[in-house]
Amino acid sequence: MQTEQIHNLSYVSADLSGFMNHLEQSYINRRAGAYIATVNPEIGYAAIKDKSYSDVLSSADFILPDGIGVVMMSKLTNNRLKSRIAGYDVFINLLKIANDKKKRVFLYGAKKEVNQAVADRISSEYPDINLVGCSDGYAKDKEAVAKRIAKSKPDMVFVALGYPHQERFIYQHRHLFPQAIAIGLGGSFDVFSGTVKRAPNWLIRLNLEWLYRLATNPSRWKRMMNIPKYAFSVLKEQRVQKQSYYPEQVKEQSKQIDA
Ligand code: UDP
Repeated sequence: MQTEQIHNLSYVSADLSGFMNHLEQSYINRRAGAYIATVNPEIGYAAIKDKSYSDVLSSADFILPDGIGVVMMSKLTNNRLKSRIAGYDVFINLLKIANDKKKRVFLYGAKKEVNQAVADRISSEYPDINLVGCSDGYAKDKEAVAKRIAKSKPDMVFVALGYPHQERFIYQHRHLFPQAIAIGLGGSFDVFSGTVKRAPNWLIRLNLEWLYRLATNPSRWKRMMNIPKYAFSVLKEQRVQKQSYYPEQVKEQSKQIDA
């Protein structure tokens, strides 16, 4: 998979179907586990501020650009990201694969009733999925949940605790379920259960999903202030890099002139 480095993280550069094909052929079909992090500008900014969180994200097999803000930063810097890959879309695609291949799935996260509603919808719409376990995201003993996941021998673990908890959980415990695809899904269970509505497709196509989330949940505005901070940090880092590369470029150009 091609990647592009933006600030301190390396993002998958592919479209959704390219990424899913790769995941299916090189991981799911071989029963090889993978840790997938879905990163939007807010998460990207948290990783810039917190080195330990950036280490947690960097250890993922795949970091997906789950936010148009990350793709926009790519356009302003190296311009190699092919497209946004939304965690929610990967979740839906994984459910289809899990149903086709009768895979074992564990659901971890969200409120009890939301988690139950997700399990109910999966059972009715994806009847061939083997739902091997569920846990809401508010149990105090995360170690116990990790042990339950390990015992259930899942092929896929969907972790919807919000950042940074979901990535920290996968990072700390993935050795217990090494053959599973483990992905952090933020608020995807709320959307899948119908508790929260995703933006209409036309707004998603216009890259305005973030605006819809803000309009429908104005209390997010504080969190969203991290989006411009992320943009500023990325552009600043890019300038510093350019300046430190500059002497090398000058040397290279003068070598060419001498030749
Ligand atoms: N959540 C959880 N346990 C916690 C805190 C949050 O399971 O201790 C869940 C919460 O119920 C919601 C999700 O994590 O379903 C986070 O949603 P949010 O909208 O914050 O995520 P985003 O998509 O913005 O990352």
